[in-house]
Amino acid sequence: MFWNYFIYMATALVSFEEHNLHNEPSHSENAERVNAILKAIGSSKLPLLHLKARKAAKEEIIKVHSNEFYDYLSKPAFEVIGALTRFNDELYSGDTYFTDRTFEAALFSAGSVLTAIDAVKEGRAKNAFALSRPPGHHAEKEEAKGFCFFNNIAIAARYAQGKGFSKVFILDFDVHHGNGTQHIFYEDNSVFYCSTHQWPLYPGTGKADETGEGKGRGFTLNIPLKAGTTSERYLELMKEKIIPAIDSFKPDILLISAGFDAHKDDPLGDLELDAECYGRMAEMLKASAEKYCNGRIIFSLEGGYNVKALADSALEVLKSLSA
Ligand SMILES: [Zn+2]
Repeated sequence: MFWNYFIYMATALVSFEEHNLHNEPSHSENAERVNAILKAIGSSKLPLLHLKARKAAKEEIIKVHSNEFYDYLSKPAFEVIGALTRFNDELYSGDTYFTDRTFEAALFSAGSVLTAIDAVKEGRAKNAFALSRPPGHHAEKEEAKGFCFFNNIAIAARYAQGKGFSKVFILDFDVHHGNGTQHIFYEDNSVFYCSTHQWPLYPGTGKADETGEGKGRGFTLNIPLKAGTTSERYLELMKEKIIPAIDSFKPDILLISAGFDAHKDDPLGDLELDAECYGRMAEMLKASAEKYCNGRIIFSLEGGYNVKALADSALEVLKSLSA
């Protein structure tokens, strides 16, 4: 009885060794990122329910991406790079690398968030954090870019809806705007997309006046931040804008695109957040999830390129989730 209770109350950590299949040590988006988080968790005494990610199935992925795009990514790297130029010139710029094993890693990455949703849906965990990599929020319906192949959080949103969680609120606190996620749900009023990001910065989307179109108008909220924005200011914005947006939408599940590259030590961004700020944000979001979603909140890793800052920040989030 005690163990059933304990397991039900646990925070799930979803990981998978197959992320190592997609690795280029000299690139910012390398396998050490997740391995550093796992190491930090190993030395902590956090009571987490460790789950192995499953692969996402093709039918789950093509609810967001086109059939053709899925088939292209499944091909050997040299063919994919050739084919992807039809979608994306970034591959030649050195921004996004692709190997013969990338497709396999990307299937697990998308699947890790689905495993997290299953654990929460089935009552095996109260909330969850999926160590998804490669990341996903820059991936468009038919375009791999910004180190991303499949849009993990968007695939998870559609999957959650299929499981009965009709209204999905996505908060994306990566330092970069999640162009892919925004575009996928831009005309959709069942998925609210909210992003905080440094402005101006890659990928160039995410202006405050991008608020959705058609029946999706008013269901996209962009909060561009200037370089130097501090933890203190960020937490004020949580209270002034983000929590009220959740309050007005009243979601059935909260999904978080959790990039930690807004940390002050990150090499790719110029915001000034610290690890404690991420823990505090997670606490506030968890309270919203308890208010509207019976506690259902799932974090999916996006960016974060200073491995120490990344591991410290992820650990703060896990402390708040499992408290
Ligand atoms: Zn990022």
